[in-house]
Formats: sequence, structure tokens, C-alpha cells
Amino acid sequence: MTGGGEALLAKLGDRLSGLRGRITPNAEMEKITWFRAGGLADALFQPADEEDLAAFLKAVPEEIPVLVVGIGSNLLVREGGIPGFVVRLSAKGFGEAEAISPTRIKAGAATPDKRVAALAHDVGIGGFHFYHGIPGAIGGALRMNAGANGVETRERVVEVRALDRKGDLHVLSNADMGYSYRHSSAGSDLIFTSATFEGYAEDKDAIKAAMDAVQHHRETVQPIREKTGGSTFKNPEGTSAWKEIDKAGCRGLMIGGAQMSPMHCNFMINTGSATGYDLEFLGETVRSRVLESSGIRLQWEIKRLGRFKAGHEVQEFLGQLL
Ligand SMILES: Cc1cc2nc3c(=O)[nH]c(=O)nc-3n(C[C@H](O)[C@H](O)[C@H](O)COP(=O)(O)OP(=O)(O)OC[C@H]3O[C@@H](n4cnc5c(N)ncnc54)[C@H](O)[C@@H]3O)c2cc1C
Repeated sequence: MTGGGEALLAKLGDRLSGLRGRITPNAEMEKITWFRAGGLADALFQPADEEDLAAFLKAVPEEIPVLVVGIGSNLLVREGGIPGFVVRLSAKGFGEAEAISPTRIKAGAATPDKRVAALAHDVGIGGFHFYHGIPGAIGGALRMNAGANGVETRERVVEVRALDRKGDLHVLSNADMGYSYRHSSAGSDLIFTSATFEGYAEDKDAIKAAMDAVQHHRETVQPIREKTGGSTFKNPEGTSAWKEIDKAGCRGLMIGGAQMSPMHCNFMINTGSATGYDLEFLGETVRSRVLESSGIRLQWEIKRLGRFKAGHEVQEFLGQLL
């Protein structure tokens, strides 16, 4: 695979020379997505800390795209790769979490959700057990309004620190995050760096029991050990995506190395050698079949990023019935 990394870095000359974080040209996105598929990012930047990230954003001219990713558990990267920079926050600079009061937790955006759930248990703060089952990090949870077991991130957020594309700092309130189902309307250029959450005092044994129930439920109904991106589509009003997918006959449907999981048919899996194209083509095939069988337009929950490879373009709903 070849990428535009060298040309990008050459264009920037010594503008990035003072940064402390790591820059990797032509970074293989398949190594940092759960699907283990996708093309190259022109360059990957892993900032050392918030100050380093701000310096990077100020140094990179605004016409060069910058896209932040988390642990990659909700991402489908296309085969043509990602133009410009992908930013991935380092665990060292952004992975700390601590209880700052009897009911509040502050967590860096690279902290795994599971670690926040474990911390909340250790200090007796209720309301975070649902994070025990979500395999992403806090930045992704803030952007996706990640939720499970009847709780969503928006119910816990007090405030969020973020840098904009110019490197300027913002502190957003819960209302500023503009939350709805699996969505935040906060500026799409914002990179969240940390957040403060509020739970409630709860008995540790009760928290542990809720966490165990979350884990047990996952093990039995989701293909959590597969290369997957979690729920592929958002649940439409009044029904579940999996029910509509099942009704349309797509449980277990396979295209190339991509399959709608026989275990949970709203989970798409890479059975071994799926490309970004296989995965997206399968997804659009499912959308078009569900549209035919139920008249419902499924919306992707998974974020699709990057460019198509020439000759491997995929049209929404396969271009049918639009
Ligand atoms: C097995 C499995 C089970 C899952 N179960 C659930 C579930 O129950 N509930 C649920 O809600 N999700 C679930 N997911 C999906 C996924 O784990 C969540 O959406 C998670 O919050 C994504 O976090 P991430 O760090 O992996 O983000 P990524 O997948 O890397 O990115 C997701 C989005 O967040 C943005 N983003 C990431 N970091 C930042 C940041 N610092 N600042 C701004 N934007 C950022 C990215 O640009 C992208 O748009 C599941 C996924 C898998 C694989």
C-alpha cells in the first residue's frame, strides 16, 4: 500500500518540529480499528498531551483535514484511506481517570469506558455500570452518546473540555453537547480531551452486580470476540434494527469476508479477510433489502471514514429506490 504521508509531511516542512507527540506517515488504519480493515491515513498524530495537541492544531494549516479517532470500535475505514491527519489520543497524556468528589468522575478522553466503570465501582459511584460493556474510550462515548442497558452518556456528562481546529480551548456544558440518540451536535471539528461526569452514591455490591449482569448479557447475545463495529445501524423509531434485518432475510448474509452476524444480525463482522468495501457493500445491501421489505431507511450507527478506492465505490442503498 502507498499513501500520501511523505508528501504531506514535506509540505509542512519544519512546522511540526517542536511537537512532543508521535507522527507516523502512511499509518495503517486496519491496525487501529476493531474491524481490522481499511486503507492508510496520510499521517497519524498521537499528541503527548492537551498542550501538544493545541500546538499541532495551530501548526497544521486549516485546509489540511484532521480527524480524531478513539479505540476504533465504531469505525469503518474505506480502502482509499484517509486524507490528511488522523489524531489518536495517547493513553499517557489523555488516559487518566479520578473521582473528584463523592459523586463525580473526571476522565481523559483516551480512558477506556470500562476503566471508568471500574473506578466508579471502586469508589461507590453508581450510574456507570453500562460503560463496563462498551469497548470504546471516553472521547468516542462523548461523540456517539454511547449507551447501553437503558443509560446513555448524556445522562452523566457535566462538562467537556475540547480543542477546536484552530487549537483553541472550549469548555462545553451538557446542553452544549447537543445530545440525541447516538449523536452529539457539538462542532464536528472539536476534539474532546476530557470530561467530568456525575453519578450518585451507590452500594459497591449493587454496582458489581449490575456490571456482572451487563457482561453476562453481552456474552450471550453479542459476538463480542469477533472483529466488529458493534451495532451497525441505529434502531429506527418503534422497532429494532436487528428485527428488520432478520425480517429482510439478512441474518448471516455474507459478502466477501463480511457477514451480518448469525448471533446478532445488527452486528457486522469481518470473518477474516473483509475489506472496507466488503463491509460497506454488505451494509448498503442490507439497507436496500430492509427498505424493500419494510419501507424503513436504516441509518448507519457505525462511522464510515475516508475515500473509496477507485472502482470500489458504494452507493447509499446501492443506488436503488432513491
Ligand atoms: C462489540 C461491540 C459492542 C458495542 N456495544 C455498544 C453499546 O452497547 N453501546 C454503544 O453506544 N456503542 C457500542 N459499541 C460501539 C462503540 O464501542 C461506541 O460507539 C464507542 O463509544 C466508540 O468509542 P471509540 O473510542 O472506539 O471511538 P471510535 O470508534 O474510534 O470513533 C467513533 C466516533 O467518535 C469520534 N471520536 C473519537 N474520539 C473522539 C474525541 N476524543 N473527540 C471527538 N470525537 C471523537 C470519532 O471521530 C468517530 O466519529 C460497540 C462496539 C463493539 C465493537
